[in-house]
Amino acid sequence: MNKKTVAHPSRRQALQLGGVVLLLGVQHIARGATIVAVRVWPSKDYTRLTIESDGEIKAKQFFIAEPPRLAVDIEGLDLIPALRELVAKVKSDDPNISGIRVGQNAPGVVRLVIDLKQPMQPQVFTLRPVAAYKYRLVFDLYPAQTIDPLEALIAERLSDKDKPETANAGNDPLGDLMAQHANKPADKPSSNPSPSTSKPANSKVAAADKDKNPGAAPAKPPADVVATPEKNKTDRLVIVALDPGHGGEDPGAIGPGGTREKDVVLQIAHRLASRINQQPNMRAYLTRDADFFVPLHVRVQKARRVQADLFISIHADAFFTARPQGASVFALSEKGASSSAARWIADKENSADLVGGINVKAKDAQVQKALFDMSTTAQINDSLKLGSAMLGEIGNVGKLHKPRVEQASFAVLKAPDIPSVLVETAFISNPDEEARLRSEAYQVQLADALMRGIARYFSKNPPLARNRAL
Ligand SMILES: [Zn+2]
Repeated sequence: MNKKTVAHPSRRQALQLGGVVLLLGVQHIARGATIVAVRVWPSKDYTRLTIESDGEIKAKQFFIAEPPRLAVDIEGLDLIPALRELVAKVKSDDPNISGIRVGQNAPGVVRLVIDLKQPMQPQVFTLRPVAAYKYRLVFDLYPAQTIDPLEALIAERLSDKDKPETANAGNDPLGDLMAQHANKPADKPSSNPSPSTSKPANSKVAAADKDKNPGAAPAKPPADVVATPEKNKTDRLVIVALDPGHGGEDPGAIGPGGTREKDVVLQIAHRLASRINQQPNMRAYLTRDADFFVPLHVRVQKARRVQADLFISIHADAFFTARPQGASVFALSEKGASSSAARWIADKENSADLVGGINVKAKDAQVQKALFDMSTTAQINDSLKLGSAMLGEIGNVGKLHKPRVEQASFAVLKAPDIPSVLVETAFISNPDEEARLRSEAYQVQLADALMRGIARYFSKNPPLARNRAL
């Protein structure tokens, strides 16, 4: 490990501790690190604990199988209130962790015991300072028994068939609410505030927005032309993977009013998912359905595991100045970016793994790298068609930043066998667009536009029959 970058304050602190520490050399200066934050990100996929400190901290962990728990000794720390906060931060409905205990194991060594609800495969790793973060010690707790997402989709599908037609939007409250929206004509959005997982959409903003855009074409109800012309060709379930960008440790871009990209894109994805689920023979699959981080290659991997027919990554753009506005749609490029702006955005989105934090030593990252080298020429052609269909529809409800689909090397668009686009829905750095992104009315219009884009693409490029269980 490179210790040369240890910050000067640590060195000064070490000097104050006297000769003994100095003799130990720079490597041991970790002692005296202060915890600046602790965070817990629960999800069905995995639960992450993050301990953020102003200096590097070292940990040794032991996994105990019966009952399942992870014991971690953290060196160079004294038991301070910040660590006790971690105990309080574990929620009883966390799918993976039942509790955390902390104690001073020895002078300068704190022991954390993480009690687990099921056998786990923990990954423990450190991250160097990046973006707004200082040093991070990360515990990713993956259930040893993973759920096969395709099987979960089949199970959902089967349970849908037992239900009356109108009740097929899933059973989470947000999904139900959105299903109600989708049943209404989309140009009369409800003014009920959305009970969303993060910030409620501001209905006042929504109303103001509507007045401001009298010229915008009234959104038509989502078309269900999808299966009509090609019903005989494929009767199978068409799966659309929706990929809300960022999440968890990675907030994405943050608007001048504090709106986080990860929150609004998740809301938009949920709205689009409920529209997709109302189409005959279509089902949405979300690469994340809550506020947790999913590494870029895992997003691609998840979509491929469910054999998705399309992959749509949803983001909100940002710039250093407030002026830029409008939506853009991107496809992959094999031969370099279509503009320097496109390259810049791809670099920015590709850096999500640095901020979100991935364990670079994990094996599956290597496997995915090999996959990324496969040819994507055919995929790109289809992605450009999908992208223009979507861009055309978005242009009916909002401004466009670029009138044509742009291309660059986005890591998340690299599934060689799935047409994939990345939609920058609006500029969160523009105060007007930030307000629109938060507004229920605009989220509804956008979700309807994206649904129409998907439908239009499928009407011209019908999904092929495939040997699949669904
Ligand atoms: Zn983004």
